[in-house]
Formats: sequence, structure tokens, C-alpha cells
Amino acid sequence: MIRILQPEVVDRIAAGEVLDRPANLVKELVENSIDAGATQVDIEFEAGGRRVVIADDGVGMSVADLKLAPLRHATSKIESSDDLFKLKSFGFRGEALASIAAVSRMTLTSRLLGAEQGYRLQSEFGAINEPTPISAREGTEIRIEELFENVPARLKFLKSEPAEHGQIKTTIKALAMAHENIGFSVRCKGQLIFHWPKNQTFKDRTLAVLECDSLFENTYGDLKRESREPRAEILVSSPQETNNVNRNMWFFVQGRWVQDRSLTAAVMEAHRNLLMHGEYPTVVVRLTLPADEVDVNVHPTKSQVKFRDSQSAFRTVSRAVRGVLEKAPWLPQVSAMSSFEEQPQFSLQMPADETPAESLKFTDVALDRTQYQKKTFPAQIQREPVKNFAPQQTMPAFRWADLQVIGQMNHTYIVAQNHEAMFLVDQHASHERVVFERLMESCKAGNIEIQNLLMPLVFDFTADEVEALIKSKAQVEKMGLIIDRMGPESIAVQAIPTIVSESSVSTALKRLAHELSESMGEFAWERMLADIFASMACHSVVRAGQPLSAEEMKSLLVQMDQYPLSSFCPHGRPVFVKRRFSEIDREFGRIV
Ligand code: ADP
Ligand code: MG
Repeated sequence: MIRILQPEVVDRIAAGEVLDRPANLVKELVENSIDAGATQVDIEFEAGGRRVVIADDGVGMSVADLKLAPLRHATSKIESSDDLFKLKSFGFRGEALASIAAVSRMTLTSRLLGAEQGYRLQSEFGAINEPTPISAREGTEIRIEELFENVPARLKFLKSEPAEHGQIKTTIKALAMAHENIGFSVRCKGQLIFHWPKNQTFKDRTLAVLECDSLFENTYGDLKRESREPRAEILVSSPQETNNVNRNMWFFVQGRWVQDRSLTAAVMEAHRNLLMHGEYPTVVVRLTLPADEVDVNVHPTKSQVKFRDSQSAFRTVSRAVRGVLEKAPWLPQVSAMSSFEEQPQFSLQMPADETPAESLKFTDVALDRTQYQKKTFPAQIQREPVKNFAPQQTMPAFRWADLQVIGQMNHTYIVAQNHEAMFLVDQHASHERVVFERLMESCKAGNIEIQNLLMPLVFDFTADEVEALIKSKAQVEKMGLIIDRMGPESIAVQAIPTIVSESSVSTALKRLAHELSESMGEFAWERMLADIFASMACHSVVRAGQPLSAEEMKSLLVQMDQYPLSSFCPHGRPVFVKRRFSEIDREFGRIV
């Protein structure tokens, strides 16, 4: 027999959808306060979120509105379905208060801005009483008690008190990072746990919420009326300070906290070659798009979004993050040395007769077999115009070339110093970084320098791989690898980039062939480029254990200044270690 469900049953079902956890209730209520124009929100919670009090200084409600507020589909925020597409508020369904009222003891106290007095309305598990006048502050206070008391099935699904409290705190942190203008004070079991003043900057609020010391800021894109481009505001940690869980990656779209795989991927893409496997940055991304470019109405708890153009959101985020990483503002910001005399003199000189007389160019022996026919390869990979960041003038005053080279340690590290610190530079990692960046840059500029090989290098592949390589011949050539089909299962390489060694080509080409035999989008190509160049660089450069002359070491430091990001090798290992003299003095007990 078909029956129309009783309204209270409908309400309880809906309550289960809107309020899957107490943290969601807190989110709905705080969003109501934000929609009401609050500048201060005070939150108290305990008992795993079964008791919650939220007070705001927003516009408040008239007695008539107070009566309507806990009714299903009662909302002041939209009138017609057209309004759904130009939504400015968080709420619009008119469901939250109705759902909460159905499953708790709720006390709503509100005084309309400018009204003589306030009113209080009580509801017990869906039974709503008449409002009564009461003296109250302007704004609204909502008190929830005995949440889910009448739905034992829901109660059973609640996690432990600390787990629910953890979720609530996370939710509040997210709300606070999206609304730095609003002040929050938060009490858990009577204890003040968070206090964030109103009108903070995005950065100050985020540093306070995430309890970290330093984050680096960038904005990318603007939101002019004609432009359909998203705008991103980001804060990101130095790649030297990473987490081993991805818990500190926060994303906001139109001011709403969202979980989105592709945005996470965009951040990780920007960190490519800067982090080791299993390392994650701390990052906060806030995206703003024209209202019709994004759909936030996809889930009752609105934690996911749909982009009309998800590629463009991905690119914006990736570039905004990359923009900071390329400036590397965490690198030692050493002020220019005021005079040469202040600089400590060498205490150890590398004896001249031990200096190996090798060429400055770290060329691989294999290169001697090649015929040097340098030419500029006129490839055309369009570099998209990069907006909103000015690379050169923001380079820190620190320069590797200014370091005094003291010598080489264990045939692996360059020992150097400036006026305040000692540096150990990993000769392999730093050279690898330089070669990698040079390859990336010249390839993107379309002027990669190549050398023709006297004897072509011939490699065996599967027939599929040969097909894929030949099909992408034009793109492979932009990477400085001139290839031809030798047979159904072999490829000849006629020319390679000047700065890589012949021995590095085999691994790189194998990898390329493998990747190419799968279909890819434009971005995957760029990522693959980085992989291939990282592999070529790694196999072309000076190794650990190789003796270097003073000139070679100096030349390496000079080259390191030419490229940003020079503090990490393409595999994410650090390039250098810095020890301040003050730290060393402390170890020797010279200073305490
Ligand atoms: P929605 O937010 O989707 O409109 P709710 O059930 O969350 O639905 O709230 C219903 C209505 O109650 C809101 O549209 C708003 O008019 C009013 N309201 C709720 N909370 C507050 C508040 N803190 N201050 C002022 N008005 C509020
Ligand atoms: Mg609401």
C-alpha cells in the first residue's frame, strides 16, 4: 500500500541528509550567521556536538520571520528558481533550521537590528512553540541541545567525542579561513580554544588558524567583468617544510570549502620536481569565478563543486602556486655584503696542485665521440603569457656566485661561505638542477641547442612504441631529439640536446616511448617533458665522487644563479645545506 509520509517522517529523513554529522550542523548555522551579515560569531560546543550554541551580531529576525525560520522550505534568500544561478548567499534551501528543529531541542533567540526587543522561540523535536518577547542583544543566538535524541539510529553512528570535536574544529577552521573579516571565538567544553579577531588579512588569519610561522602568498588572474578566467588567491609553504599527510591542503570556491581532486592535483602539479614522494605542502587556495562558471548546488552539504571549465580552474591554481615557488622567497635572503673586509677570509685553501685540470663544462666522455654541429632548433612551443608575476626584479639579494669557495669535500660537496654562514652544495644535485632548468627553458622558448651525432644511436623498442614515437616525431624533436624509424622495432637518434650526454638518451627515450603509447592531453605533455628532462639531466651531469677544480665549482655556483628553484634537484632532494656561523659558534660554546 502506498502512503504519503507524515511531515515529521519527511523531516527526519531530510535531517539525515542535511545533517550527516554535528560538524555539518555547525557549518549550516555559521553560514546562516554569515548570510545575516555578522561581523562576530561566537561558537560553543560540547558532548560531541550534541550541544551547540552559536551567537552572531547579524541583522537578526523579526518575530514574523522567527516563526517561519524553522519551517521546511522557509528561506529569505531566494524567491524563484532563476535566483539559483546568481546565488550570493550560502543558504537557499530553507532546510537547515527545519531539519535541526526536527531532531533536537532548539532555542532560537533573535532581535532584529534596530528593534525594541527580541523574541525567543523554542522547538522540541519538531513541536514548535509560539515566540515570546525577551530582552536580547541585536543579532541571533541558536542553542541546540540533545541532538538526535529522538533518532537512535543516528546517535549510534556518531563517532567518539574527540572525533566529532575534531571534525567540528576542522569545519570552523575552514569557515574562518574563508572569512577573515569575521571575528570568531570558539569554546569547546567551556574552554576558549580559538580566538580570531575580525578584519584580519587572509594571510594573518590563515597563519593563526593553521598555526604556522610562514606561508607565501600569491594572487593570479583578475575578475573583470569581461574576463571568464577564475581568480586564485593562494598561500603556500616552502617546499622545505612539508607534511607527510595531505591534511593541510585547503580549497575554497566562491567562499565555500570544497574537496576537489583536480584542484589537489593542480597544487601537486605545481610542486612537481620539488617534493619527494609522500610529501605534501601546506596550502590554502581560494578560487573565485563568474557565478555561472561553477555549480555549487551538487550536494546537500555542498562540499563538492562542478566547474564548467575544469581545465581552466586547474591551470589557474597550478600557475598561482607555481608563481610563488619560482620566486622561492624562502631562499636565504642575505643582505648585500657592505664591504669586503667584513668577510671572513679563507681558512682553508685547496692546494693548487690537487686541482684536477678538467674542462669547465663537465662534459661526458661520450660527448667526445660526437661531432659538434651546434645549431638552434627552431621549434615553436608557445609559452602561454604568464600574468601577474614579475620574475626578475624579485630575485632575492642572495647570489650563489658571491660565495667564497673553500674546497670540495669527499668529492661530493662544494664547501663555501659568505659573511654569515657555511654552505655545503651537493655537486650532483645542483648541476642536475641547472641542466634540468636550462633544458626546460630552452625547450619552451623553442631554441634548444642540439648537436648532430657522428654515429646515430640506435635503440630497440616494441612496434607500438616505435609507432607512437614516430607519430609524435614533431613534438619529440622540440625536445631536441631528432629521431627516425630504423625498422619496425628500432629507432635511430640523429641528434640530441648539446648539454646532455649520449648515455642519458636511452633511459629517457624508453620512458618517453612508454608514456607516448598512452593518450594524453596538453598538460600531460608538459609534465612528461619535466620527467624526461629530469632523467636526461640526472644522467648527464657531474656525479658524486668526481673531483672538481676550483673553477668548476665556481662555474657551477654562477650557473645556479641563472635559474629559480635552484634549492632542489629535480627529484626533490635538497641541493644545499646551510649552517650559520652563529649555530656553529653555539656548538663550540663560544656563545650561549
Ligand atoms: P536557508 O539558509 O537555506 O535560507 P535555513 O533553514 O538555514 O535556510 O534558514 C532559514 C531562514 O532563517 C533563513 O533564510 C534566514 O532568513 C533565517 N535565519 C537563519 N539563521 C539566521 C541568523 N543567524 N540570522 C538571521 N536570520 C537567520
Ligand atoms: Mg542556512
